[in-house]
Amino acid sequence: MSVKKLAKEDFAKFVEALIEKDNVIGVQAKGERFDFAPLESAQDLRLDYDVTLQPPKKYFLPPKEVLMTFEVGGAYASEYEDETFVLLGVHPYDVVGINQMDELFSQDNYDTHYMKRRNNATIIACDVVTPSENVFASSMKTAVVKEGFDILLTDLGDSYVAEAATEKGEALLAGAAEADDAALQAREAVWAKNQKALNKHELECDAAYLPKLLGRSYDHNVWDDMARTCFSCGSCNQVCPTCYCFNVQDDVNWDLKTGQRERCWDGCLLDGFTKVAGEHEFRDQRAHRFRHRLYRKAKYVPAKIGGQIACVGCGRCVGACLPGIANPVSVYNRLIDDLGIG
Ligand code: SF4
Ligand code: SF4
Repeated sequence: MSVKKLAKEDFAKFVEALIEKDNVIGVQAKGERFDFAPLESAQDLRLDYDVTLQPPKKYFLPPKEVLMTFEVGGAYASEYEDETFVLLGVHPYDVVGINQMDELFSQDNYDTHYMKRRNNATIIACDVVTPSENVFASSMKTAVVKEGFDILLTDLGDSYVAEAATEKGEALLAGAAEADDAALQAREAVWAKNQKALNKHELECDAAYLPKLLGRSYDHNVWDDMARTCFSCGSCNQVCPTCYCFNVQDDVNWDLKTGQRERCWDGCLLDGFTKVAGEHEFRDQRAHRFRHRLYRKAKYVPAKIGGQIACVGCGRCVGACLPGIANPVSVYNRLIDDLGIG
């Protein structure tokens, strides 16, 4: 696949042409923060953003969606959104989050709703220009990404290097000039800087060691200590690019003849997440729910996706947690300090 170079003014024209022919979701300012939203003009795009309020997962797994409609005791039909769209400005750690979700939603029970949206998407990633105050992607090895996007943009000041990684990306960049050696070297320098700089919280071990560390930590007192001030608000789940738990419920309409099956986000920190028939709740203590989230990130999900740690170091949960206890690095480092690396 090719690597192109676009001057900033040509990139603006490239974005305007994209908006003309597809639904483009791009990163834009929202007050003093940033978020993904439908893009109407290249001028509104902010690829110098630090971190978005929400990760882009909502475009593949919406907070609420109808999976199917049915007649009570009769016919049913799956409901699908089938529109193409372009996600413009996805940071490398969020690309890794999407790649992990792709694996999880396509293994075991293939999730047709997620995968249809995913196959309809074009992902234009961009290297980080402004590190956010809580990012620790360097510790999680997600500061730079080499796959999982259609195009990767790297800002060189007056131009972008744009690498096509798929046929879709290649087609979009057709006609742009090849990147010269100087541009490629400048991109390498951006990658080398970001590999180290996106590290506002530093994990004291190699991320690959975390599943083993948690294998020794189930009864540690850190879970009770940290969860003491947890509100069970679920904010850490909601803003996380790798949290994907959901609830499914059938709603029958007032006619009592038809209805729909709906899915909505759920979160393992919420009270009631594990409530089952007979009002039995098998994780009814905050400490157990707090522990479960961090075990999901660094032990349970890695076991399903070849050892990849399901925390990509975006830092969103750190900023979203009012009592300041959600930072995975603080917990893992405390365990390392107490138990050592062994
Ligand atoms: S656990 Fe926190 S830092 Fe890690 S990916 Fe989720 S929101 Fe980001
Ligand atoms: S850890 Fe923080 S963000 Fe998560 S549920 Fe508890 S209080 Fe809310």
